[in-house]
Amino acid sequence: MKQQYADIIVDITQEKLDHTFQYKIPEELSSQVKEGTAVEIPFGKGNRLIRGYVISLSGKPKLDEKKIKEIHSVRKQEIGAEENRMALAAWMREQYGGTMIQAIKTVIPVKQKQRPKEKKTVYLAIPKEEAAQRLELFQKKHQTARARILEALLEEEQIPYGVVTGKLNVTASVIRTLEEQGILKCESETVYRNPISIQEKKRARICLNAEQEAIVQDIIFHWEEKEYRTSLIHGITGSGKTEIYMELIAYAVKQGGQAIVLIPEIALTYQTVMRFYRRFGERISIMHSRLSPGERYDQFERAKDGEIDVMIGPRSALFTPFPNLKIIIIDEEHEDTYQSETVPRYHAREVAIQRANLEDAKVILGSATPSLESYYRAQKGIYRLYTLKKRAKESKLPEVQIVDLRAELKSGNRSVLSVVLREKIEETLEKKQQIMLFLNRRGYAGFLSCRSCGHVIKCPHCDVSLALHNNGKLICHYCGYEEERQKICPECGSSFLSSFRVGTQQIEEVVQREFPNAKILRMDLDTTKEKDGHAKILSAFSGHEADILIGTQMIVKGHDFPEVTLVGVLAADLSLHAGTYRAAEKTFQLLTQAAGRAGRREKPGEVIIQTYNPEHYSIVNAAHQDYESFYEQEILYRTLAGYPPVSHLMGVHASCKDKNHLDMGMTYLKKYIEQIIPKKAGITVIGPADEQISKISDIYRKVMYVKYKDQQMLLKIKERMEQYMEANEGYRTILVQFDMN
Ligand code: ADP
Ligand code: ZN
Ligand code: ZN
Repeated sequence: MKQQYADIIVDITQEKLDHTFQYKIPEELSSQVKEGTAVEIPFGKGNRLIRGYVISLSGKPKLDEKKIKEIHSVRKQEIGAEENRMALAAWMREQYGGTMIQAIKTVIPVKQKQRPKEKKTVYLAIPKEEAAQRLELFQKKHQTARARILEALLEEEQIPYGVVTGKLNVTASVIRTLEEQGILKCESETVYRNPISIQEKKRARICLNAEQEAIVQDIIFHWEEKEYRTSLIHGITGSGKTEIYMELIAYAVKQGGQAIVLIPEIALTYQTVMRFYRRFGERISIMHSRLSPGERYDQFERAKDGEIDVMIGPRSALFTPFPNLKIIIIDEEHEDTYQSETVPRYHAREVAIQRANLEDAKVILGSATPSLESYYRAQKGIYRLYTLKKRAKESKLPEVQIVDLRAELKSGNRSVLSVVLREKIEETLEKKQQIMLFLNRRGYAGFLSCRSCGHVIKCPHCDVSLALHNNGKLICHYCGYEEERQKICPECGSSFLSSFRVGTQQIEEVVQREFPNAKILRMDLDTTKEKDGHAKILSAFSGHEADILIGTQMIVKGHDFPEVTLVGVLAADLSLHAGTYRAAEKTFQLLTQAAGRAGRREKPGEVIIQTYNPEHYSIVNAAHQDYESFYEQEILYRTLAGYPPVSHLMGVHASCKDKNHLDMGMTYLKKYIEQIIPKKAGITVIGPADEQISKISDIYRKVMYVKYKDQQMLLKIKERMEQYMEANEGYRTILVQFDMN
C-alpha cells in the first residue's frame, strides 16, 4: 500500500505554531486516522509526545520522505471531531482569527474523557404528606433549592441524580444535607434508564392557533423541498414562538433527526426549559456553565450515541456532536450573550448558519426585537421572515407613557422620580400590587448631556456619544477624537451640562425616603455576587415579599411576575448614549422588554418611561411596541453613517504591556492598511483609539476599525494584516484579535 500522510495541527496554543506538520500514517493505524482524529505525535528535537488533530490527508510527502516522522498513536479516549466540525473550525479560524487550535478547541469543548459516573437516583425517604409540609417550610424560609427538589419529588417518585444537579440546579451539598436529615435517599446500584415517566404526565398538548400553524406549515413545506434558508420569526413576547419551536423540533425528531436550542441564559429561562422537558422528556439534555467538564462530556457522549434528541443551552451547546442534526433554534437571537468574548470571537448566529450549511440543517431565529442584522437580511430575502402579530393568550399590552425629564427640571423637580411616576408608585402600593424600577445602565460610559434641553455631546465624525473620562476629557471610542469637557451647553447655553452618574443604590435610597413603608429589593452586580443571589432575589420578589424591585437590565429579561402592574424606566437615555452605533437598537430592545414586564396576566399594566429625549425614535417606537417603524429609522441611520449591517465593520483589537510600543504598532498597521487598500474603493480606517476599557491588569488595549460594504474584502485585508504582522518582529509582543461587526 502506498504511504499515506496526515497534516496535523499540534495542540500548543502559540501563534507561531499555527500551521500544520506532516506525519506518516503507520499502516496499522490507517483505518483509524481520518480528518478530525486526535492523535499522539512525537514533536520537536526530543520527540516529546504531544496531542494533535488531523486536518487533512494526502498521498504526497511535503518534504524529504525520510525526515517525516510517524504518528505514534490514535487518542481513542477522545471525541474526535468529525469532518464537518473540522471544517467548521477552519471556517471560524478564517472568519474570526485566532489559531486553528483555538478554533478546534471551541468546536470540541470537551476533550478529556472522565470516569463514567455511576447511575444514581434520588427519591423521597419520607411519606408524601410529610414532604409537602417540609416543602412549605422550605418555601417560607426561601430555601429555594430544597423547595425545588421536594416539589419535583412530589411529582415524580424518583429522579436521576444528574437531573437533580443539572436541570433542577440543586447542589450536591444540598442533596447531602437532605439525605442526612432523612428526607431523601440516593440509590446507586439500580439503573433506571428512563426513570421519569413523562408520558403519563404530558399536559394536554396546546393546539396551535391559525397564525402559528401557518408558520409551521410553511417552514416544513420549504424544508421538505430541501430549502435550508434561515427563517426569522418576529413575534412579541407571549405570541407563541416557543410553541412553534417545539412543533418544528417534533417534526425533526420524527424524521430521525436532532435539534439544538440556543437560549441566552439558562438561569433566566428556567420556565422555558421545563416546557421543553415536559414535551420531550428524557430525550432532552441541558448544557450550562455550571456543569463540570465530566458532566459536559457525558452530555456530548449521550448526544453522539443518539440517547438524546434535543440539546438546550447557551452558545456552547451549538457544538453538540449530533449525528443527524436537523434544526438549530436560536431564541432571543438579538441577545449579546451569543457573541463570544474569548478567541475566537464568534457569533453563535453566524456559526449556527455555517454549521447548518455543512450538515443540511435548518436554522430558526426568533425574537420580539430582532437584531438589525437579522431583520435586514430578512428584508433582503436572505432569511425568510415570519411575523406573529398578537399574543397567544388574551392579555392586553401595557399602557405606556413617556415623561419628559426636561420639563420636570423646568418645573423645579430635580428628583430621579418624575411627578407622574411618584403618583403611580403610590397608587400601585395602595392597591398592594408590585412595581419594577429599571435603571438602564447597559454599556454606560458616562456621557455629557444637558438636563435642560437634552442635548448630548457627540463625536463630530462618528455620530456616537463621547465618553467622559476621569481626566475630564471627552473621548470617542471609535476614532479616538478628543475634546475638553465643556461647561455650557452648545445648544441652549444653559449650564446644566452634566454627566449622568446615578446608580441603583442611590435610587433605592431616594425611593425608600419617599416611600418609607414600601419593601424594596435591589438587584444589581453588588447584590447578586453571592451564589444564587440572583435566584434568591427573584424568588423573594415573585413571592411578593417586596413591593418594589429596583435593578439594572438583569431584571427585565425573561421573568414573569404576574403581580407587577407598574414598570418605571428611570432614565431611558443611559443606554441611548452608550457610545456605540448599536445604542439605539439596544435601547429599543431593553425598553420593549421592560414594557413587556408589566401586566403579564389579567391585571392591566402601566409603563412610565422617563427620558430627556422623548422624541427619539427608539423610545417612541418602543412605547408603541412598533418594531417596523423603529427598524425603518434605524436602518436609515446605519445607511447614512455607514454602519453595519449596511456596511461591515471589522474591529482590530490589539493589546500589549508597553503603551508606546502598542501605539506605534497600531500606527504602522494603519499606515500599512492604507497603503494596500485600493484608492477610491470607499474603504475607511477609523482609529486607532483606546478601547472602552483602555487597560486591563496592566495590559494596554487599543482598537481600530476598517469599514467597507463588502465583507469578503475585509477578510482579505485581515489576511494581509496577519501576514504583515507575522513578518515584522515588532508584533511579537502585541496580541491582535479581529471581530466582525
Ligand atoms: P413566546 O415564545 O413568543 O414568548 P410562548 O410560546 O411562550 O410565546 O407562548 C406564550 C404563552 O401562550 C405560553 O403560556 C403558551 O403556553 C401560550 N400559548 C402559546 N400558543 C398557544 C396556543 N396556540 N393556544 C393556547 N395557548 C398558547
Ligand atoms: Zn442644552
Ligand atoms: Zn469618532
